[in-house]
Amino acid sequence: MVMDRRRFAFGALALGVGALASGLPQPAAAKAASGKSASAARSGEPDVLVLGAGISGLQAAWLLEDQGLKVTVIEGRDRVGGRIMTLLDQPGYPEMGFNSMGEGYGRGLDIAARAGVEMQEVGARYRIGPPSLLYIGDTPLTREEWAKFPGNPFPDALKSVLPGELVPMLVAQKTRLADWNSWHDPVNAKLDISLHEFLRQQGLSDQAIHLAYDIAPYYGMNAYDVSALLSEYNDGFVKAQIAAGPNSFAVKGGNLLMPMALAKQMKGDLLLGREIVAIRQDGGRVTVHCADGATFSAPKVICSLPFSALRNVAIEPGLSGIQAQAVAQLGYQPISMVFVTAETPFWEQDGLSPGMWTDGVLGNVIPQRYGDDPQQVTGFIVQARANLANYWDRMGADAAKAMVVARIEALRPAAKGKLAAHSYFSWSQEKFNLGDFSYIAPGQVSWMDEMAKPAGNLFFCGEHTATGARGLEGALESSERVALEVLGM
Ligand SMILES: Cc1cc2nc3c(=O)[nH]c(=O)nc-3n(C[C@H](O)[C@H](O)[C@H](O)COP(=O)(O)OP(=O)(O)OC[C@H]3O[C@@H](n4cnc5c(N)ncnc54)[C@H](O)[C@@H]3O)c2cc1C
Repeated sequence: MVMDRRRFAFGALALGVGALASGLPQPAAAKAASGKSASAARSGEPDVLVLGAGISGLQAAWLLEDQGLKVTVIEGRDRVGGRIMTLLDQPGYPEMGFNSMGEGYGRGLDIAARAGVEMQEVGARYRIGPPSLLYIGDTPLTREEWAKFPGNPFPDALKSVLPGELVPMLVAQKTRLADWNSWHDPVNAKLDISLHEFLRQQGLSDQAIHLAYDIAPYYGMNAYDVSALLSEYNDGFVKAQIAAGPNSFAVKGGNLLMPMALAKQMKGDLLLGREIVAIRQDGGRVTVHCADGATFSAPKVICSLPFSALRNVAIEPGLSGIQAQAVAQLGYQPISMVFVTAETPFWEQDGLSPGMWTDGVLGNVIPQRYGDDPQQVTGFIVQARANLANYWDRMGADAAKAMVVARIEALRPAAKGKLAAHSYFSWSQEKFNLGDFSYIAPGQVSWMDEMAKPAGNLFFCGEHTATGARGLEGALESSERVALEVLGM
């Protein structure tokens, strides 16, 4: 079953790339993209503009260039990679975005090989070390203490499950999907209830859901805000990765090196620092307007912008129906992070876990083991999600960094004077993302099959449009689909 899924991943890649690379003779491919023969295309103008140089945009560009099409990529930031973002100047190269890929990432492993970057196994980073210590208020609790804690709101049979473990565990055990790939099938529309309702059906109280989910929601602002089907889909994808093998891979020296290497392989232009503010279709051509006044046009345009950013771009004629609604309303997860290092290993001094899961303003303290020796803690990502992330953002970077250090020192006196908070990173404050990954609210699963359809000569890709894979693998899945659409296949 899992091997089938792995084969599917590789198979889909082989089908996509194989069909693109050899299925069409070059002139026919160019004609499919431009609506006229390549030689009739206006000299110097691209056949296709790709908007956004994240992984999905770069892969779509490569697939089309491989077919002989002339492609220009336009990117708002001064760098490529989008949500692949490494702090290349800090110890261990901490990742602010994409972390790692599982063994089942057929597309991800393939593109890394093409980029020529060195991959390293990083699964040990996650397996090594004790579980994070739970803090309720200022009280540290071991699993045994938590099971007997008077304020533990979990049902009797689940009292020893830690808050951060409970929801993934229940979703994994009680998923209603026989085949997780069918999560967006209209036949399952009746299952498109909130995660809150799903968890209530598993016997959790509102108080238990608040502690186990709403304090640090994986998707959405709280459990009311996310479809249970999205959690079940993610669970299926994670299970498939685990079944494919225990290894996880990341790029040695930082994941950002991968899109940087891919960008160098582009044959056409890659324009950085060009914020797109309008997309206009007229007379079979699409014109893209940038904030600096520059315009670019082509017969076809692929848009990889997250809908959170696209909703600030004027589109004429306007989109319609569910697609317009999705661009306007699709949710994006607030996540903010502080990167902290410790001068000395305070966790060895106090004998407690370096990791901390708190129900307060400190959020989640996640040890980073990014050195050659996975035993070594190279730093900490302190992470806030949803409302807590918004609170930190309002506090401001300097105040949030100071608060994080003060709270760790208060909870762990052995850390006093030994911590340095280096950088603050908020995905909500990144103007070209305005949130981390997309999420689907209850009742929105039916959007999935509508929101990525081409609108005239404007095509869509990006992680938010993927239906068969999550994260980076989903972004790459969307590039294959959009390349085939542009080629008229
Ligand atoms: C904290 C975090 C952790 C993650 N961890 C993992 C993980 O471990 N495994 C995994 O598989 N996935 C992970 N992901 C998800 C993965 O990084 C994304 O799914 C993937 O990188 C998305 O690629 P994309 O091309 O769809 O979008 P993006 O990377 O967001 O690309 C879109 C591009 O469009 C550009 N853009 C936006 N607006 C404009 C505009 N107006 N004008 C011009 N350009 C614009 C942006 O700058 C960006 O470069 C993580 C993401 C985050 C944020």
